[in-house]
Order: sequence, then C-alpha cells, then structure tokens
Amino acid sequence: MPMYEFGCPNCGIVTTELCKIGEKGEQLTCSGCGNTGLMKHISGFSSLGIPGGAGGVSCSPGCSGNCAGCH
Ligand SMILES: [Zn+2]
Repeated sequence: MPMYEFGCPNCGIVTTELCKIGEKGEQLTCSGCGNTGLMKHISGFSSLGIPGGAGGVSCSPGCSGNCAGCH
C-alpha cells in the first residue's frame, strides 16, 4: 500500500499513514490538536526511477542501460 503524508491545516503537524489508493484524509484525526479533515500531501517516493540502469532505457545499440559507459 502507498504511504501518504497528511498535514493538519489547523496546527501544521504532518502524519504519515498507509492508505488505500484514493483514500482521503477526511476521516483522519490530527494527533496534535484532534482536528479532522487532514489534507493529503503527495509523497515523492515513487517518482524516481530504478537507479543504476538495471532495466533502464538504452540510449544506443550496445548500451547496456548504463550510459556512463557508452559515450
Ligand atoms: Zn492539528
């Protein structure tokens, strides 16, 4: 399951929750002030590709995916 960060618009505390896809923070309660209706932050954990060229895109024939060695 993906992890999302939820920020409290009242006191600014950010909590990280495991959530189902599409779940919102409306049902969550702030651990700091008890406010409900937390706002979801988009986590960047999935925005990076696979490092090191394993399974990466080759830039030319013969390139193994690690472009540091092909030009
Ligand atoms: Zn709060």
